[in-house]
Amino acid sequence: MEWKNKADVVIVGGGILGVATAYYLAKLGRKDIVVLEKGTVCSGSTGRCGAGIRAQWGTEMNCRLGLAALDIFEQLDDELGLPTGLNQGGYLLVAYSEKEFENLKKGMKLQNDLGVKTRVVSLAEARGICPALDASDAVGFTYHARDGHADPFLTTFAYLEVAKRLGVSYFRRTEVTGVTVKGGKAVGVDTTKGHIDADLVINCAGAYAQVIAKMAGVDLPNWGERHEIMITEPVEPGVCPPMLMSFSGNYYIQQRPHGSIICGVSPKGHPQDFELRTTWQFITHMSTVLNKLLPVTKGIRIVRHWSGLYDMTPDGSPIIGETDVKNFYHSTGYSGHGFMLGPIAGKILAQHLTGSKPDIDFSMLDYRRFARGELIVEPNIT
Ligand SMILES: Cc1cc2nc3c(=O)[nH]c(=O)nc-3n(C[C@H](O)[C@H](O)[C@H](O)COP(=O)(O)OP(=O)(O)OC[C@H]3O[C@@H](n4cnc5c(N)ncnc54)[C@H](O)[C@@H]3O)c2cc1C
Repeated sequence: MEWKNKADVVIVGGGILGVATAYYLAKLGRKDIVVLEKGTVCSGSTGRCGAGIRAQWGTEMNCRLGLAALDIFEQLDDELGLPTGLNQGGYLLVAYSEKEFENLKKGMKLQNDLGVKTRVVSLAEARGICPALDASDAVGFTYHARDGHADPFLTTFAYLEVAKRLGVSYFRRTEVTGVTVKGGKAVGVDTTKGHIDADLVINCAGAYAQVIAKMAGVDLPNWGERHEIMITEPVEPGVCPPMLMSFSGNYYIQQRPHGSIICGVSPKGHPQDFELRTTWQFITHMSTVLNKLLPVTKGIRIVRHWSGLYDMTPDGSPIIGETDVKNFYHSTGYSGHGFMLGPIAGKILAQHLTGSKPDIDFSMLDYRRFARGELIVEPNIT
């Protein structure tokens, strides 16, 4: 693709956020959009994630975003004309203490009030939903049947392909090295391929968003947090249709359609860590957790093990909106749930930037909330 020195919109980052935002902007009529990616599409967190999609959240904002995300995913294959690998086996949340179960039920009440049909299920019903499950030590379960997971590569490639058909330019292996600010406005970016003048710059750099922000003198409180994850060889398909998740148990487990299991845990204490290394301690711990919950996995082999970065914020909620530097927007800080929220976040930001009313008012996700002390603390994360 021929290099451009001028664009209407420059988007930094070729993950789900950057690509979905580009697609919705183009669909809503913005012209001359350029996506810049220092690696390749999906080489950041998006291509490394567990790809779960849920509306079982603990804050009103995330419930609304999660539900709207499900609405989008359910018709996305038709809209884009390409597959996203959506698999709606639900999310089965597992509580290991009365206190945790009460918290899940409190979240369920909020979800139900907002139209998310989460319900409590018994151990027997949980076993019906997930035939391989051994969770006799669990105190309770909640389940939302519309939740599930999709394929992050298929989804992001589909958005990119259709965005390109709508005229979006995508440059891979092109690192943004500076954001040019004149008179308090972002007016372009420097890259390893040259400078681009732009009327609008959108920071979708995931765990590196605070680095891009700093280039324009904006301080974001975000950080990268390394998470390990693995995939096993297949077991019989259909033994674990839902995403199994526990906040106190600290795990998420899903089965791919061909039978492999993808699973991960979170590091304790949310440490800042940008290194994409892997450890044998993770494999040992994860295998023990997996074998206990799904005894059918005993003795199977691990096929691959990798790590990726959560793009964390202090309250576990995203940052969407303009900064003190005009025409410089962020859509970042998804704190481990950016794959599922990417489509709806891209859509509402694009609606805002094309002069229409966003489906969800996201003004409270402004980054200034941290300075004001108005945190939107999401309890339903590991
Ligand atoms: C192990 C793991 C499991 C997860 N599980 C889930 C899950 O089940 N469900 C869910 O919703 N989310 C999950 N997530 C979180 C999810 O992956 C992220 O929130 C989401 O992918 C963020 O998308 P993004 O586009 O903002 O970031 P990314 O996909 O990281 O994209 C940002 C891109 O910006 C590029 N970039 C950075 N700096 C520059 C620069 N200077 N110039 C040009 N490009 C640059 C990077 O190369 C990168 O490709 C998980 C994450 C991990 C690591």
